Amino acid sequence: MRSISIFGATGSIGEQTFDLLMRAGGPEAYRTVALTGGRNVARLAGMARALRADIAVCADDAGLPALRAALAGSGIEAAAGAGAIADAADRPADWLMSAIVGAAGLVPGLRALRHGRTLALANKESLVTAGPLLMAEAAAHGARILPVDSEHSAIFQALNAEDIACVERIILTASGGALRDWPMAALANATVKEAMAHPNWAMGQRITIDSASMFNKSLEVIETREFFGVEPAQIEVILHPESLIHSMVGFRDGAIMAHMGAPDMRHSIGYALNWPSRDHLPVARLDLAQVATLTFRAPDLDRYPALRLCREVMAQRGLAGAAFNAAKEVALDHFLAGGIGFMQMASVVEETLSRLSPDFRLGNAMMTLEDVLAMDHLARTRAGEVAAHMTGSR
Ligand code: NAD
Ligand code: MG
Repeated sequence: MRSISIFGATGSIGEQTFDLLMRAGGPEAYRTVALTGGRNVARLAGMARALRADIAVCADDAGLPALRAALAGSGIEAAAGAGAIADAADRPADWLMSAIVGAAGLVPGLRALRHGRTLALANKESLVTAGPLLMAEAAAHGARILPVDSEHSAIFQALNAEDIACVERIILTASGGALRDWPMAALANATVKEAMAHPNWAMGQRITIDSASMFNKSLEVIETREFFGVEPAQIEVILHPESLIHSMVGFRDGAIMAHMGAPDMRHSIGYALNWPSRDHLPVARLDLAQVATLTFRAPDLDRYPALRLCREVMAQRGLAGAAFNAAKEVALDHFLAGGIGFMQMASVVEETLSRLSPDFRLGNAMMTLEDVLAMDHLARTRAGEVAAHMTGSR
């Protein structure tokens, strides 16, 4: 029986992973080692009981008494804190889902790779902040990373048995998010609620707003560069409002392989779970006559400054990715708190990058985890200052 762990089990990706495991037979089909979550300890405990996990870990110490109480009599261990989450990644599991949101997902993923495990990677922030480190650790320990982001799963599938040297271009599709058809001038005043109304995908709050700003796509461009090792100039972004093509690979003979399917993350989660085989998945089947048309358009870089910023990050390399992601997370916090406007998120990130750029080279030889965490911390501080300065100046 295969053993599994889920990091970020109570989130959108975590719940969908849980759904697939339960449909497959739950504890009869998989041995669950560790499940981790954030504040929702009741749900975490419920999942741990259903899968008969060895241990459940919540992110905050404050949640531990409630987690213990909810697990009383089950024989399931309870623990709390970032250290305990990282330690849970040391426990032997064949397959680990990395679905914590944000840079907090980096350390547990790295720990799993150091044990040579298979890491299903939804946490794109790990590759953006520390791509070279993550890929080097995987190679050094014979670990495998399977992409779970729908675009990267699509590219991975389109590349099946192909020679990466024959790849000319990778085309990431983007829905354009909730505000894609708004007039430019109205974007400055978009609210959190408006940015949350994603047309096609039901996801966590942070990634949904990052989709509206295309910061999500900008992270994915960097993720593509780091994971597949292609040059930045080979990566294109195209708006595709229907979200039925999940991404494409163009080869040197002009052929394009596109991955299509209903917009349902259980496809890419299930692909990573069943890889290298395929199994039945409970996703809707496309009726192409019903779909009738697929549309595409070039993204407007004035509307989506994040797409321009990710190119600068890739040109600088080193620790620029760590700074970019941290500044973006802080800018998003300030937008969620109502301090800054929707378009000011990009301004916060751009200003933070320009203040820190002399330090990015540090990570160019071979970045260490300490370098990455130090840059993450520094960028959060700088971005906080920049955002505080902008507050109220919308
Ligand atoms: P989410 O916010 O729904 O869930 C995040 C999970 O991480 C929860 O279990 C939460 O409790 C936990 N968590 C949050 N902060 C934490 C911290 N500091 N320490 C430990 N645990 C913490 O997020 P999501 O939408 O499921 O996204 C998870 C990851 O997958 C992100 O990296 C996201 O970019 C990526 N992703 C998500 C989707 C999607 O459809 N939701 C698609 C592609 C990629
Ligand atoms: Mg994606």
